[in-house]
Amino acid sequence: MGGVAIVFFGPPGSGKGTQASRLAQKMQLPQISTGDLLRYHVGAGTEIGKIAKPIMESGNLVPDELVTQMLRERLKQDDAICGALFDGYPRTTAQARSLDALLAETGKSVLVVLHVDVPDEAIVDRLAKRAQIEGRADDTPETIRARLRVYREKTAPVAGYYEAQGLLVTIDGDRTIDEVFSEVDSVVYQRLVQPAPA
Ligand code: ADP
Repeated sequence: MGGVAIVFFGPPGSGKGTQASRLAQKMQLPQISTGDLLRYHVGAGTEIGKIAKPIMESGNLVPDELVTQMLRERLKQDDAICGALFDGYPRTTAQARSLDALLAETGKSVLVVLHVDVPDEAIVDRLAKRAQIEGRADDTPETIRARLRVYREKTAPVAGYYEAQGLLVTIDGDRTIDEVFSEVDSVVYQRLVQPAPA
């Protein structure tokens, strides 16, 4: 018996992490955020962390192989046996292919990709606020702009990869957390009942 993999997709600051965390709680599945995993590695000073730190501070993407290696380790943990919610991953088409391969190893596949869509103006605003609250090293105005650029160039094309498989659902993320979540919840429920044809 396989398990459920749900991908949250969207620009930095779209609120995908917040939505993923609520759904994770409701579905009792782990939320796997590559950003959080990388920040853990940076904090712990691991080999991965040493490579990732300057790249993250510049707003660029950490190399795919490193992210895939980290993901493979994470998916081996017991809590991911029945599946997981992915937040901030995959960020490139190569990562999307690796995710399919990693999931297939344990008989899982992507159920749905929730694209949380928010206009750029709203994002810059939200990230500037988050910078004040959380003080994350990569929330400076220059890095925010760099991350949005990287998102458009490298990550946005991932939508096409999933769209072609009938897995992409776009959700208007420019609403309250509760409003967005009620749509996330109903889309996931629908897909659980009636998955996209393979
Ligand atoms: P945000 O969604 O706000 O950009 P994240 O916490 O998801 O923040 O990511 C922060 C940084 O970590 C990214 O700018 C990037 O450098 C790195 N990162 C996170 N996930 C990935 C990934 N899947 N592939 C490559 N780099 C990643």
